[in-house]
Amino acid sequence: MSKAQIKKSILFTTILSSLLTIILLYIFCYTTSILKTYEIADILYNKVYTPKEKIKQSHNEKLSIIKRQQLLKDIVLSTDSMRGIYYIKDNHYLYSDRNADMMYQVPKNLSPLSYPGQDPILIKEKHDKLNQSVVVYMFKFGNGYYQMFLNLQSIAEKLNATAYSFLTYQISETNSPKNIFGKPKDFIKFEKIVTRSLGVTITTGIRIHVMVIMFLILFSINYITIYLVRLLVNYLKLKNLNFSMRIRKSIKRNEFIPYYQGIYSTKEKRFIGAELLCRWHEKGSKILPPAVFIEYLETTGKIKPVTLQLLSQLAIDKSKINQINHDFYISINMTVEMLLDDDFIDTLLQLIKQNTSLQHGLVFELTERDRRLFFLKQVKHNMALLKQYGIRWALDDFGTGYSNILTAHSLPFDIIKIDRIFISIANEIGDDSILENIVTLVNNWQLPVIMEGVETQTELARLELVNLNLFQGYFFSKPQPIRQFLTRIK
Ligand code: C2E
Ligand code: CA
Ligand code: CA
Repeated sequence: MSKAQIKKSILFTTILSSLLTIILLYIFCYTTSILKTYEIADILYNKVYTPKEKIKQSHNEKLSIIKRQQLLKDIVLSTDSMRGIYYIKDNHYLYSDRNADMMYQVPKNLSPLSYPGQDPILIKEKHDKLNQSVVVYMFKFGNGYYQMFLNLQSIAEKLNATAYSFLTYQISETNSPKNIFGKPKDFIKFEKIVTRSLGVTITTGIRIHVMVIMFLILFSINYITIYLVRLLVNYLKLKNLNFSMRIRKSIKRNEFIPYYQGIYSTKEKRFIGAELLCRWHEKGSKILPPAVFIEYLETTGKIKPVTLQLLSQLAIDKSKINQINHDFYISINMTVEMLLDDDFIDTLLQLIKQNTSLQHGLVFELTERDRRLFFLKQVKHNMALLKQYGIRWALDDFGTGYSNILTAHSLPFDIIKIDRIFISIANEIGDDSILENIVTLVNNWQLPVIMEGVETQTELARLELVNLNLFQGYFFSKPQPIRQFLTRIK
């Protein structure tokens, strides 16, 4: 990479990570703030609402003041963080949980007259007697007001123990900026709720320096992740590039080679043909099977030059095979795509004309799995054309594709190859009726039928029972290079 490219790449990663970090951080802070705000509101409701309800229930004008005082005392004793309850009428304390005979004026700072309006209020005050901070909750009831004195410290402890401690909160009086809980620090606010019944505003958010630290941590994680993903993408691109370069080089060097797997007739008790199967023998590497490369060759069209090379090699091998058995045939895999390519067909015919060994005993296999096989007129036409040059056609992998029997029958095939899948099914369910049915079906065509993938004696016995007699599989011969194969069929 050039310097300019590196700079560009760093800039790109930085911008992308920053954007991602900002979005993630915003979503995170926003959702946690909402959760924290509602947790705080819940605590306040518990501290204020439960005793408020008890007070309201106990209020009975018909009871004597002494009795009422007694009831309030019970509430204070049974409620933690409750300091005292006072009842106010005409701006005078009338009674409290401790005193049934008060009659003194409410100080200005706590007087209902200082807080016009119907909504309850929450105020922070110094407690006269103990000089401790208290929270006073005042609400209108009947002809007067109740004031609940709550222990600020114990409520604050609860609030501080709420989740997401990296967030800051502030609880202030609704109608003034006066702070009750939390410290009024500079922070970025994410959530704010105003509760009329509590008389407070709850705000949550995050302090700027905490936000900066979180940004840096998240940014680093994002930066590294994006960097690694880009590295991986580049690596995969390079690897793919590398793969296509290797293939191109191998085509130039003729490194795709034919292996031969015999097709055995149990009737004649000998090999009557073989399938040519491609292998990739890259210089200095081990020989690779088609699973590694055939899909790539087929999708990129490179299968065409490779097949032509295999056929050139076959021309040489076939003349050696002909010396052993002149009736021997070799089949090779073709694709519909190749069959429809006029240039390819021209080169192919030239190759056949130039090599007498290819002028008989050559079979092309088309797989039933290719959807286009049965629906293109041109396929039928070109199959017929090549037949004039001595080529025979085999329908490969029968039973695995999409064809129905009628469309398959409409093409001029000479050989049917039944896929190994039917052996697997018979093995699995221990039932030969499917095999029997498929053979009956295929026999209607009165064409030679080859069973693919016979691996064991047991499988063979089963297949012979349904009157099959042409086989290709590891049981008879594995795909081999020409030299070994020649000794195998001698
Ligand atoms: P295919 O045409 O169905 O070839 C038969 C495959 O079954 C071969 O795999 C063969 O080695 C394997 N086989 C043979 N006997 C047995 C057996 O007893 N048991 C099992 N489990 N498998 C057996 P291979 O050589 O790996 O080839 C795989 C596929 O690659 C072929 O399937 C064919 O579709 C494709 N292929 C191979 N060579 C060429 C080629 O030159 N051109 C094209 N277009 N495709 C090719
Ligand atoms: Ca085949
Ligand atoms: Ca096959």
